[in-house]
Amino acid sequence: MYGVGIVKGLGVTLKHFIATYVDDLRWLGHRYYNPEAFAVRQSPKARGIFTVQYPEEKLTLPEEFRYIPFLIYDELEDGTRQDRCVSCGICAKVCPPQCIWIVRLDDPETGRPIPDPADFFIDVDICMNCGLCSEYCPFEAIRMDHDYEISTYDRFAENIYDKEKLDRPASYYASIRPRNYAFDEATIVEKKAKKAASEAARKQRAAEKSQRTNE
Ligand code: SF4
Ligand code: SF4
Repeated sequence: MYGVGIVKGLGVTLKHFIATYVDDLRWLGHRYYNPEAFAVRQSPKARGIFTVQYPEEKLTLPEEFRYIPFLIYDELEDGTRQDRCVSCGICAKVCPPQCIWIVRLDDPETGRPIPDPADFFIDVDICMNCGLCSEYCPFEAIRMDHDYEISTYDRFAENIYDKEKLDRPASYYASIRPRNYAFDEATIVEKKAKKAASEAARKQRAAEKSQRTNE
């Protein structure tokens, strides 16, 4: 019969319309501002209207959401900060659109590269948010940010991020990616233990060699 489909469709719309108010009552108007409500709204159990009144209302981003990368520094006990990046250049090498460039300096006395970038740039207009830089960094130093609100009126002046703009403390990383942060911390502890063990073994070998030489 003509029109049945339309009536059915309007029924679905009406169902969602009513469910929206029921859902609002269920969460007492806080369905966008309550972690428990967020979890339900982002699951198949969500009921009612699905649109979000952005920018007044924002849904929580999943932990693995990625946008522009940022550089992590550790806050030390004496109040100073230590960059994790050692300017190895691997991220710049693997970046598919080649939008990372790093300024490295050499030690004037030894002539060897200083393991700390003098500057670090990412052209965020070119970055395609693939996350490869983060995947390949061997020092847990570059990770993907959640901040997607980066529009500007002057992209030529604002959208080449330098080190100052890219730097974030490890606590920020922990706040947006708690599981990834915990995994990285465990990896860092493991790497440090391996390095300490290998250093101890090297010293032991050196001591044995010197003892043999003296005999
Ligand atoms: S962010 Fe990581 S991969 Fe890139 S230069 Fe620094 S240490 Fe190397
Ligand atoms: S996210 Fe991808 S495109 Fe963006 S800087 Fe990293 S590797 Fe390059």
